[in-house]
Amino acid sequence: MTARFLVVLDADSTLIRNEVIELIADEAGRGAEVAAATEAAMRGETDFATSLRSRVSALAGVPVAAFERVLARIEPTPGVRDLTAAVHARGGIVGVVSGGFHEILDELAPALGVDVWRANRLAVADGSVTGEVAGAIVDAQAKADQLAAWAAEHGVAPHRTIAIGDGANDLRMIAAAGLGLAFNAKPRVRAEAPLVVGTVDLAQVIPLLP
Ligand SMILES: [Mg+2]
Repeated sequence: MTARFLVVLDADSTLIRNEVIELIADEAGRGAEVAAATEAAMRGETDFATSLRSRVSALAGVPVAAFERVLARIEPTPGVRDLTAAVHARGGIVGVVSGGFHEILDELAPALGVDVWRANRLAVADGSVTGEVAGAIVDAQAKADQLAAWAAEHGVAPHRTIAIGDGANDLRMIAAAGLGLAFNAKPRVRAEAPLVVGTVDLAQVIPLLP
């Protein structure tokens, strides 16, 4: 399928208002600790992959059945369905690339009008999270690489790509895209992105679509 253009969003604090890893950590009674570590990682104060492995280790023992409660707590960002509908109406496609988890995004993404998505996977044994990440970690470079791969796959020229994110691990895809947007973003991301959307409303992106 070829597309006129490609919009790639980050998931946590961009597509949705939450940080999913914090919601899963709540199920292990370690929400506050993981929230502090996530905040530091998103500000770019710690190496993403190292931080993610450490935070995921705090999730050990959470039953997969608890993901239903996590999903119920997720709040989509205002305007997200307006944005995905507008992209489709103009012949574009929507991707989400996340340092979060397929276990949640596989339910969430299609419901919000997302066409393609990629995230990390939590290792599971005997119906519970083991505390390890399964496979290669989706870090800042993996996000930028995925944007380029989707563009190539759908016949979209690099200058017709838009990347939207809030965290330090979004900066490489923001730099790689034709248009990079800091959205609901950490100070470093606001400082480095070409354009800043200050209002937490994804419909604000619609006038920027090609
Ligand atoms: Mg984020």
